[in-house]
Parts: sequence; C-alpha cells; structure tokens
Amino acid sequence: MFEVVIGLEVHVQLNTKTKLFCSCPTSFNHKQNTNTCPTCLALPGALPVLNKEVLHKSVMLGKAIDAKINQTSYFDRKSYFYPDSPSAYQITQLYTPIVEHGKLRIDFEDATHKTIRINRAHIEADAGKNIHDGDISKVDLNRAGTPLLEIVSEPDMRSAEEAILYLKKLHSIIRYIDIGDANMQEGSFRVDVNVSIRPKGDEKLYTRVEIKNINSFRFIQKAIELEVARQREAWEDGVYGKEIVQETRLFDQTKQETRSMRGKEEAADYRYFPEPDLLKAVVTDEMMREFSVIPELPDEKMTRFVKDYGMSEYNAIVVTSSVEMAHFFEDMMKEGISAKNALTWLTVELQGRLKGDVNITNSPVNAKKLGFLVKRIEDGTISGKAAKEVLDYLMNNSADIDSAIETLGLKQVSDTGALEAICDAIIAANGDKVTEYKSGKDKLFGFFVGQVMKESKGSANPQTVNDILKTKLGQ
Ligand code: ADP
Ligand code: MG
Ligand code: ZN
Repeated sequence: MFEVVIGLEVHVQLNTKTKLFCSCPTSFNHKQNTNTCPTCLALPGALPVLNKEVLHKSVMLGKAIDAKINQTSYFDRKSYFYPDSPSAYQITQLYTPIVEHGKLRIDFEDATHKTIRINRAHIEADAGKNIHDGDISKVDLNRAGTPLLEIVSEPDMRSAEEAILYLKKLHSIIRYIDIGDANMQEGSFRVDVNVSIRPKGDEKLYTRVEIKNINSFRFIQKAIELEVARQREAWEDGVYGKEIVQETRLFDQTKQETRSMRGKEEAADYRYFPEPDLLKAVVTDEMMREFSVIPELPDEKMTRFVKDYGMSEYNAIVVTSSVEMAHFFEDMMKEGISAKNALTWLTVELQGRLKGDVNITNSPVNAKKLGFLVKRIEDGTISGKAAKEVLDYLMNNSADIDSAIETLGLKQVSDTGALEAICDAIIAANGDKVTEYKSGKDKLFGFFVGQVMKESKGSANPQTVNDILKTKLGQ
C-alpha cells in the first residue's frame, strides 16, 4: 500500500498599486516595457526601496493563516540568468521570511476537517515575461518587480483531492482578504506541485517531483493523478530508483502526461546571499496593530451562518466558499427574507441559470434583485413557480421585479373580493360536492381549492383561497 505525499508552493501576485521596490504601476494591459524604471530594469546605480503596502498585505495573509509574523525579516538574492530578469537575480526571502508556521483548514464533504501546515510565506519580486513570436523572442518587463507572496505548505496532503481543497481554500482566503486577484488564467495565482509516494506507515519522505505552473484546478488534479500513477508503476515494476528522480516536470494537457523539463543535473545553483542593497524589513508594533485588522474569513463566516441562520454546515461551506458568493448571499438577506429561501434561490435557481461568461459577479440579476424576488414570494405576491418565470425573464431582460411581474401577468390575486366571487361561483356550481363535504368527506376541500385555482388561471393566492373556502364551507 502506498501513501501519496504532496506539498504545494503557491505564488500569489499581490494587488498593490505599485511594484515591490519602485513606484511603477502594477496594472497590466499597458504597452510593453512602459511600466518600467531604472530600478525594475536593474540599471546600474538604481536602488530598491521597499513598498510598505507589501508588508501590509503580507501581515494580513499571516493573520489569515494564523501564522507567526516576523516583525523583522530580510531579503536575499537568488542568482539565475534568464532573459526576463534583467538583474540576473531575484530578490526573495530565504533565511528569514516575513510569515512562518501557519495553518489552513480543509473541509471534506462528510463534514470532517484536516489542518494543513504552512511552512512559510515570503516576499519576492516577479520576473518579466518572454514572448515567443515565431523565430523571435521578445521580453516585456512590465511585470518585472511586481510583488509576489510565495506560500509554501508542508508536505501534508495525501491525495489530489486534498491538494485541490487546500488550493481552493487558500484561493478563497486571498480573495476574502483582498490581497490579490488570484486569477489562475492570468497568472496571479501560480501553483507548483511537489509529489512523492511512500509505503504506507513509512515516515520518511521519498524522492519528490515538482510539476510547475499548471493553470487550473482541474489540470492540477489531473497532473497529480498522472504523476502518482507513474511513480506507483515505477515502484511496482522495480524501477523506482532509476526512473523517479528529483526533477521538474511539465504537465502536457493535450498529451495528458507529465514530462521532464529539467533534471537535478541541470538544476541551477542559486548562490543565495543576503541582499546588500536593502535594509531589513521592519513591521513596527504600530504597523502590526494596523495591518492585523482583516475582514471576516471563510471559516468564521461559515460558523456565523450556521449559528445565525440555522444553516447546515455543508450549506454554509457552499455559500461561503467564495467571497463573491458570500457577499451575494448577505446582500440578499438585507431584503429581510428567510435564509433557507435565499440559499435555494441563489445556489439552485440563479446558479442553475448562469452560463458561459455570466457568473455571480456580472449576473444580470444582482443580489438585491434576487432578494426582492424572494420577498415577493414570501409576501404572497407571486407563487414560487411564477418566480421562476420572472427569473428566466430577467436573465434576458432588464426590468425591476415588480414591473416584470406585471408584464408577465403573474401577480397572484389576493384581492378577497375577486376571489370570493370565484369561490361563490364554484360552490354554486358544485352543490352535490358541497353536500358530500359537509357530511364529512374532508378530502373534497382540495377539490374546491383546485377548482378556484383553475378558474383564476393559477393567479390566486392559495392561502387566501384556503381562508375564504374555509369560511364559506363552514369549517
Ligand atoms: P524548494 O524550495 O527547493 O522547492 P522546499 O524544501 O522548500 O524546496 O520544498 C518545496 C515544497 O515541496 C514544499 O511545499 C514541501 O512541502 C514539498 N516537499 C518537500 N519534500 C517533499 C516530498 N518528498 N514529497 C512531496 N512534497 C515534498
Ligand atoms: Mg520549489
Ligand atoms: Zn520600476
């Protein structure tokens, strides 16, 4: 029996206004090589100055993962020569990172939990981008010097599933505390996966393979499964020692395989040494107080939803899984509706209607509107069935709820006068049934309700009809 061992390194691009060591903007989609200056171009004589906002966001992350924050941390040089790094080194934090010994909880579907330890989170500068264009390669340095936080887990995950839960939770936390966009496609949340296997019960770590830069949760899951299978087969075939070597591999999504990118022999010697151009990074006590204030985290919100709204833990996890979803739900609740209805209308009805590029953040029906639609069910203006029609209509037409109800003619008739007239007519037309009912055939009550609903073409408020019929039939 084998056990899978996974450790994850995540590079999060911080959404600061300016770069890590200069005042160039971090915004993208600018003309190539325009967001640059002597510092991020590494021109001789230019000196780096640390951006305080980076310390702020790093402390926030540290708080969110319940970590130790080193109020004094240091920068180091990691030497490597690559065209997208004009300085031929990267500034990072090897020896004393700003954040150490954190933890993060993952939740399984059966409501059990597991805590994954986080070794460290350190600040580093991003490189530029190489653009390969036919025979020519170009370099865009707009991204060079953008701040990254590299968050390194302990090798605590035991399956692809656990790895994905960890990544989704970390992703969610980054979005909750808003320290980065964490967009995998755009590269602001980049994952390196370290995978090894070992005989179950063995404590020691076996040779790990690192799979780099896979840009979706689905592909990460697949890459892990493929790599685990490769290692297991090598073991079973007795060629583990020969075939499984410490190396960097790439995931090829078209071929559905991992493939060697560079082996240990080609591994760079980074020649780390303390960065001489920078002072130590100091977070003063006052800064600590200021930076430690963070928004409510997913776990806290989840616990609060269970307590305040009587939700099941499972539902609370679903609705707090992303900050967008949680805020949507909370905005719906401002309409004074029941949590149960809000949950169903958000997670079943609205989400069931979101397709393609339309998601919860750009949905044509926003939280306030959906909340109000639910309110119209709760106050008896429309039936639940009619509300689905209204929602269908509003996914494609812009109108407010009440005018959509009006346009679609779905308003329930709660006007007692009109309904009484219908009830009278139905009673008059079914004299025999009335006699049967009065002599004890209670079941017939449903028949009368049905007839009235039919006569009103479904627009009658069922509760009102019930009340009227009860009085008229003498019960
Ligand atoms: P490096 O910085 O060279 O990539 P680290 O020692 O910092 O190396 O480890 C990087 C990541 O690899 C960490 O997330 C760690 O948990 C994970 N890791 C280390 N050894 C193993 C192993 N044998 N199997 C799986 N993951 C591992
Ligand atoms: Mg690594
Ligand atoms: Zn610059």
